[in-house]
Amino acid sequence: MNKFNKYFDINHIWHPYTSLTNPLPCYYIDSAKGFYLKMKNGKKLIDGMSSWWSVIHGYNNPRLNLALNKQIRKMTHVMFGGITHTPAIKLCKKLLKITPIELNSVFLADSGSVAIEVAMKMAIQYWQALGKKKKYFLTIKNGYHGDTFLAISVSDPNNAFHHTYDSFIKKNLFATAPICKFNDIWNHDDIFSFNQLIDQFSEKIVAVILEPIVQGVGGMHFYHPNYLRSVRKLCNSYEIPLIIDEIATGFGRTGKLFASEHANVVADILCLGKSLTGGTMTLSAVLTTKLISDTISNGKIGTFMHGPTFMGNPLACSVAEASISILEENIWKTQVKDIENQLYINLIKLSNHSRVKDIRVLGAIGVVECYDVINISKIQKFFVKNGVWIRPFKNLIYLTPPYIIDIESLQQLIEIIAKSLENPIFFISNSK
Ligand SMILES: *Cc1c(COP(=O)(O)O)cnc(C)c1O
Repeated sequence: MNKFNKYFDINHIWHPYTSLTNPLPCYYIDSAKGFYLKMKNGKKLIDGMSSWWSVIHGYNNPRLNLALNKQIRKMTHVMFGGITHTPAIKLCKKLLKITPIELNSVFLADSGSVAIEVAMKMAIQYWQALGKKKKYFLTIKNGYHGDTFLAISVSDPNNAFHHTYDSFIKKNLFATAPICKFNDIWNHDDIFSFNQLIDQFSEKIVAVILEPIVQGVGGMHFYHPNYLRSVRKLCNSYEIPLIIDEIATGFGRTGKLFASEHANVVADILCLGKSLTGGTMTLSAVLTTKLISDTISNGKIGTFMHGPTFMGNPLACSVAEASISILEENIWKTQVKDIENQLYINLIKLSNHSRVKDIRVLGAIGVVECYDVINISKIQKFFVKNGVWIRPFKNLIYLTPPYIIDIESLQQLIEIIAKSLENPIFFISNSK
């Protein structure tokens, strides 16, 4: 039998978080423009996902394409070891311009997970340079920081992805996840568990790492800004570096350019990714304070031990610079605010539905938390049939649309979610 037939994809290509023998169905997308995905059969789908938080300015964006085209004519890639170039310099200048003044250097990496590896390695080398032996990272439950081993070691241990590798994973410290929600009245007890751990283990803690305000893959929770403020204060008093993972939240998604701004908190090490290139290609960045970079650089080893082959890829840098230029014109602020208002008015209406446990909205993020786990393959079939692209996980149906989406299309996304709640076959009964 010829394996190069129409079943090639299903038989030979891995997709994210799936099996090869019993995969979830895949839809064939041929092109994408604005907030539409176009299927191979010609059908258009309204995109509610921004391809996992990344395509903030829409697909096939002419300004991003122009930046790519210009750069293609000059140089698509060159090694970054011993060489520098304008796209990297321009991007790093922009990154330092739009982030807090305390952040002073940029390390360009390949993807979100790699940025996390780099950030954690920097923190380890920081303490090595100071001659201190440290053992653990401290984080909070429900977190997610990527799929590589160091990243897994600080992601929620109860997450189904991670059990499998247990014996290979470095043990770290997990505080109870924040309970106080973004708009709740702050309850200081929320920080108790974190406070206790940092106090008990401060001598052994390399760094604290967490997602600011929004815990994404770990359940789409929006926690109280005072939690992050308290974490910052405790890190200061115990002199422990704070790594903030803005890979999902960065570049406007939560209504602030960076989610840490909700709490006026500055990281010692900041990780950026996902929408950094406007969702065009893979690139991430790790920004640090001068204290961190100087300490590493003045240590016994002196060099930071990381250097990906495609570090500072000129194409990725130039498109990232173009994406940030669009953000600098500040239209995203109204776009995100408008999306937030529309989600707030129309998605919240579903709160009283018997299947719905909670609805929450922050910036251009809308979450419908159901009581039951969702049958992804069945509900996606329904979504696609109705002309929308939404990909739920666990018991969560969520929207993170491109900032450029229009009112009618966002309304359609919301209405189709509402309709899907009416069909019991999309839900796998869960004990409530
Ligand atoms: C997606 C994500 C990562 C991992 O990024 P990849 O590019 O998928 O490796 C890390 N942290 C957070 C918060 C994320 O949402």
